Amino acid sequence: ADDVALDPWGSSSVSDYRNLFEEFGIEEFDELLEEVPNPHYLMRRGVIFGHRDYRPVAEALQNDEPAAVLSGFMPTGDPHIGHKLVFDEIIWHQRQGADAYALIADLEANSARGMSWAEIDEHARDYLLSLLALGFDLEEGTLYRQSTNRELQDLAFELGADANFSEFQAIYGFDGETDVSHMQSVVTQMADILYPQLEEPKPTVIPVGPDQDPHVRLARDLAERMRFFKVSDAYASFELEPEERALVAEFYERLDPADFDDDDLRCVHVAEALEETPLSELGVSADTLSSVLTKLNEAGMEPVRPRTRFFDRRATDDAFDALIDAIEGEKRVYESHIDAFELDLAAAEELAREVEVDNGGYGFRPPSSIYHRFMTGLTGGKMSSSIPASHISLLDDPEEGYDKVKAATTGGRETAEEQREKGGKADECPVYELYAYLLAGDDDEFAKRVYDECVGGERLCGDCKEQAAQLMKEFLEEHQEKRDEVEELLEAADIELES
Ligand code: SF4
Repeated sequence: ADDVALDPWGSSSVSDYRNLFEEFGIEEFDELLEEVPNPHYLMRRGVIFGHRDYRPVAEALQNDEPAAVLSGFMPTGDPHIGHKLVFDEIIWHQRQGADAYALIADLEANSARGMSWAEIDEHARDYLLSLLALGFDLEEGTLYRQSTNRELQDLAFELGADANFSEFQAIYGFDGETDVSHMQSVVTQMADILYPQLEEPKPTVIPVGPDQDPHVRLARDLAERMRFFKVSDAYASFELEPEERALVAEFYERLDPADFDDDDLRCVHVAEALEETPLSELGVSADTLSSVLTKLNEAGMEPVRPRTRFFDRRATDDAFDALIDAIEGEKRVYESHIDAFELDLAAAEELAREVEVDNGGYGFRPPSSIYHRFMTGLTGGKMSSSIPASHISLLDDPEEGYDKVKAATTGGRETAEEQREKGGKADECPVYELYAYLLAGDDDEFAKRVYDECVGGERLCGDCKEQAAQLMKEFLEEHQEKRDEVEELLEAADIELES
């Protein structure tokens, strides 16, 4: 398999999604499809292929409990059919009852991509119009622009206190030449991701392409980091009932080596929390703790180190093995304690979060994410905003959209005869993707029919493209009409769109 590099500002195309599961701990979406109420067709068809910790969101939707969805758009060009996937994901979550947020990442566009404010202004409106035209409910949802959201800026500043240059270096490859605004735009994005939880902690999903995963991981780290510090502070400095103490003690269960693969940072926070906790009351001796911490130190673990493991496994795996050995020995102590109270971890987390919120903290839940496949460009290769023929802009003239589909590469055979005999290669065909990702809409039967007819040799590319081109034209006509209709809504919404 090719190497997978996840770079949020690069032009990465992800050639082997399996690597993402193995290398980065992204989980397969299929495995929890059954737990999702009325799954969207992008979920059913495997276009949304992966997730990080999506289960709490699915459960909240299922039980009509608070949940949120947020995604941001860098207005670097016209919105195209690749962006439509994310619009659809936001809107679907909104319809399932989640609080929906969409934001214009203007600070990021300016600092990471060097776009001028005039260019940003021009495109920002177009993204929002398409989002509204596709069904975003403005009255129920929130739209904002990074640069004009003061609360967001304050949160970013606060998060910045918990992040440092070395980790930006490790995660994003920043170096001495990286300008400060770029770093600021990262903490702003972290604030975006946690923004839906400012008023109350709730499961939140960020629908993105897998190249954005580094941001999600960092946001999850920061959420945990802020949370555990607050929990341990609260625990150390506030009077808690014995039962509450016991619940917080349940956190020690996280010292389960099985957890490390998912989130190795967690154990370090637990160690930090341990250090600040009145251990005598928990039946854990100071000797026990100090031996864990000593071994932790011997293993060279520092609070911000483990993240580098994603980038250089070998350097830190040995350290982790040593840590796991050390903790295995101590686990029995915690286990007996946990058994005595028969408490579950979810209840403990809930209580710890309440304690935190009561004491002025945020109680952030680590944000979840879902990942969709990148669309293949119509000309083959990657769909790119900078190559007009490779994508269909939501603003393209419907006739132009028609022409682009007609000119697209296909997974067809050399001759019609060969196609009838061997069938087409729908899995490698950008035109089939158009059907599956967009043109078939909610109609699974239709998408399946196109696929079966193609691979069965009954469908030939000429007719197939003609049908797709026609559908694309209709889609664009309808979408653009709706854009005109929602224009007034956007005007009335009083969103600061101009910089
Ligand atoms: Fe693609 Fe349609 Fe040709 Fe099959 S028949 S390869 S889906 S264009």
